[in-house]
Amino acid sequence: MEASTTAQEAAAEAAAAATQNGTGDQGDAVFNLELSQDQKDIREWVHGFAEGVVRPAAHEWDEREETPWPIIQEAAKIGLYGFEGLAQFWMDPTGLTMPIVNEELFWGDAGIGMSIMGTTLAVAAIYSSGTPDQLAEWVPQCFGTPEDPNVGSFCSSEPDAGSDVSAIRTTARYDEAADEWVLNGQKAWATNGGIAAVHVVIASVDRELGSRGHAGFVVPPGTKGLEQGAKVKKHGLRASHTADVHLDDCRIPGSCLLGGKEKLDERLARAREGTSSRGQAAMKTFEVSRPTVGSQAVGIARAAYEYALDYSKERSQFGRPIVENQAIAFALADMKVEIDAARLLVWRAAWMGRTGKDFDNAEGSMSKLKAGEVAVWATERAIQVLGGNGYTREFPVERMHRDAKIYTIFEGTSEIQRLVISRAISGARIK
Ligand SMILES: Cc1cc2nc3c(=O)[nH]c(=O)nc-3n(C[C@H](O)[C@H](O)[C@H](O)COP(=O)(O)OP(=O)(O)OC[C@H]3O[C@@H](n4cnc5c(N)ncnc54)[C@H](O)[C@@H]3O)c2cc1C
Repeated sequence: MEASTTAQEAAAEAAAAATQNGTGDQGDAVFNLELSQDQKDIREWVHGFAEGVVRPAAHEWDEREETPWPIIQEAAKIGLYGFEGLAQFWMDPTGLTMPIVNEELFWGDAGIGMSIMGTTLAVAAIYSSGTPDQLAEWVPQCFGTPEDPNVGSFCSSEPDAGSDVSAIRTTARYDEAADEWVLNGQKAWATNGGIAAVHVVIASVDRELGSRGHAGFVVPPGTKGLEQGAKVKKHGLRASHTADVHLDDCRIPGSCLLGGKEKLDERLARAREGTSSRGQAAMKTFEVSRPTVGSQAVGIARAAYEYALDYSKERSQFGRPIVENQAIAFALADMKVEIDAARLLVWRAAWMGRTGKDFDNAEGSMSKLKAGEVAVWATERAIQVLGGNGYTREFPVERMHRDAKIYTIFEGTSEIQRLVISRAISGARIK
């Protein structure tokens, strides 16, 4: 295998080889709403952790606004946090295990959930652009060990480059004599930024090429020139650390360029000739990752719905449980319908991504858009069902509502999802 082969290509090669050998074809996995025993077992296992460990700690870590290291460690000890667990979830040929795991974990609590799953953003970037050697070297370091867990951080956004990724100003200059890359710039809102062992930084190697001139770099643990900037105080997801990251003449070995120099040079040459197909590839990568984010939002929405349903049976006004009023019962019925609809979109897109189907209608974006908006809406409805109690920090739906809001903003805002979907269905250059 060529050194410049990406890990994703290696996985595709392995899948192709397996098909030829008659040992399996991911593309044939049938979409089936009857979950396998494996999927049910994993769901039950994650649910147990979410219910027994995550949920009871949610309020405390939300108030502390700190990374819940003891809980990350618990997750690592049982194999929920770590490369092997992630690989096991990802290997499911139907693609449904990743959303199932995320929904259960975020049902427990989204802030703690993001502290556990935030590392996967960095891992996904290494996986999608790195070589097998880079994958083997850096992914275990993102997680650390159960005794001494680490986190990873994916740093793309900048103060002036959020939705518009092409506006990234962070530069990467190659120092040929030293075989080192020199990174300079400022990253914004990075989950685990500054506290991570491994940072994956997206930087521009050629500003004139816009996003086609971008490349991903691994900044190894303890590298000089990478500093955490301001830690962001947030509306929700407060147990998850978010911060600016400053890169000041940050020197990293040449081998830290994801995918390798040869591959980058080829890609830049194609981009300069105007024949690059990178835009399509990047689009497909996003479509594949979006259902996982959507499933987190479904988990929050379901948690709020279940809490509100139970509450409505307990709380009495005018001599009867409030659930006996149509106004309340219909709200709960609508919540259930919307949450199940969102989950179905998430599962469809996850299955499509895993089995290599084309996202002709941007089905990945559809799933993330729907799930994010349902989470915001359903958690707000849950507050209404709880009345005054719903508005207080004594009851969890207030926190769930704050946590849900980020799902219409990060990983592509709702407006950007609508842009992607409308372009896909119309073929028009909608602005
Ligand atoms: C808690 C949190 C965690 C995050 N984690 C990470 C991380 O780990 N790594 C990382 O790189 N980034 C991260 N981000 C950044 C996040 O991805 C960005 O905030 C997001 O992409 C939106 O960018 P922006 O905030 O600059 O909004 P802007 O792009 O300024 O958008 C502002 C508004 O304008 C709208 N808008 C913009 N362009 C258009 C358009 N063309 N058409 C219609 N409407 C438009 C948007 O939809 C939005 O409503 C995180 C952010 C938060 C808050």
